[in-house]
Amino acid sequence: MTNSNPSIKRNNHFKNIAVIGGGVIGSTTALQLATLGYEVEIIDPELNQSTNFSKLLTGTQASLGVLMGNVFRRNTGRSWALRQRSMELWPKLISKLSTQTSPLKLYTPLVQLARSEHEATLMNELIIKRSHLGLEHLTNHSPTKVSRLWPKAKYGGLISNNDGRINPLNLMVCLMKALDKYKVSKVNRKVSSLERLPSSQNKRWQLQLDNKRILQKDCVVICAAIGSEALLKPLGHHYPIESVLGQAIRLTIKSDFKNWSGWPAVLINHGVNLIPENTNQLLIGATLEPGITTSNTALTTMREMHGSSPEWMQFASIENKWTGIRGKPSNEPAPLLKNLEQGLILNTAHYRNGILLAPACAEWVGYELIK
Ligand SMILES: Cc1cc2nc3c(=O)[nH]c(=O)nc-3n(C[C@H](O)[C@H](O)[C@H](O)COP(=O)(O)OP(=O)(O)OC[C@H]3O[C@@H](n4cnc5c(N)ncnc54)[C@H](O)[C@@H]3O)c2cc1C
Repeated sequence: MTNSNPSIKRNNHFKNIAVIGGGVIGSTTALQLATLGYEVEIIDPELNQSTNFSKLLTGTQASLGVLMGNVFRRNTGRSWALRQRSMELWPKLISKLSTQTSPLKLYTPLVQLARSEHEATLMNELIIKRSHLGLEHLTNHSPTKVSRLWPKAKYGGLISNNDGRINPLNLMVCLMKALDKYKVSKVNRKVSSLERLPSSQNKRWQLQLDNKRILQKDCVVICAAIGSEALLKPLGHHYPIESVLGQAIRLTIKSDFKNWSGWPAVLINHGVNLIPENTNQLLIGATLEPGITTSNTALTTMREMHGSSPEWMQFASIENKWTGIRGKPSNEPAPLLKNLEQGLILNTAHYRNGILLAPACAEWVGYELIK
């Protein structure tokens, strides 16, 4: 893999870099930096571990992988710029990560149903402005005999032809392989503390791992989501990060002799993502629950989608469910992208859309290192 953006060069003052956190954000950042020629070590106790869905998961392990880059109300500002850049970078990244043994694909399109007359009007305005990005009206959706009914779409909706979904577990498998290919060392440990060494030692960074091992680096990029605050506080950088839980479920539809024909890769109804899988499974997610305790009510509300869920969905059984933890900045918009001091960069607290924004944020880190 070569540097996809030749305007980013390497900073020769930073030979070796530690990336703390190996979720989608840390892994894409480590890969980007290795591609630019840095010596990179990625540190995370969860690296290469199989996912245990009965435990509280990290954001990446829990994610549904929906990429919603073009359906966004605002068309200015940092968030919009990151979304657009990521949507440009994703196809290139997918084609570089995908191999015969671990294929990776962006499944499209994404359909969003309007909840009200007002929302339908806003969608129409967006479609006019964004037809060049693949947005169009949802017209004449008529299910065939074999297709499962959609939720009631009283107010219509939009189709976003270039948005969709990437399987996040496959993505992580591909990223881990690419990190090996680029000789990124992986350390299956937690970083317990981080300190700046004195000038006599070139102000390098010293990381202590939970097995007491010490690492010294020229530069550190923190991508530790909810774990970032504790690493930063002793350094005098106060960035409070709150927990926001997300629950998701996989339903199995009892044999109804129907299939997913006519369904998009992602259908969004009342803010809930519905993702068809195999012939008779459906992923539903995700709740947004501040704090660290899950609520059954939130799960039921999500599944019922304000009374619009089709009958077949109500009779489906829950195959499995899981909960992931997101880190949300308490005092400013997500994510935290900060160049804090020489050789200390934050790319963290992606409480939503972290999968979507990963390539653009990894690219941003590469630019910051040469400033
Ligand atoms: C249920 C659910 C569904 C979601 N669906 C989507 C979706 O469809 N599309 C989308 O774009 N986003 C989605 N998100 C959000 C997305 O998952 C997150 O934005 C993204 O995964 C954040 O990635 P991350 O790498 O920053 O964090 P994480 O994946 O949480 O990774 C952080 C890593 O840091 C490690 N770590 C923490 N502290 C330390 C330390 N001291 N030392 C070493 N390592 C440390 C942790 O072990 C962890 O692996 C969803 C989230 C949830 C919960």
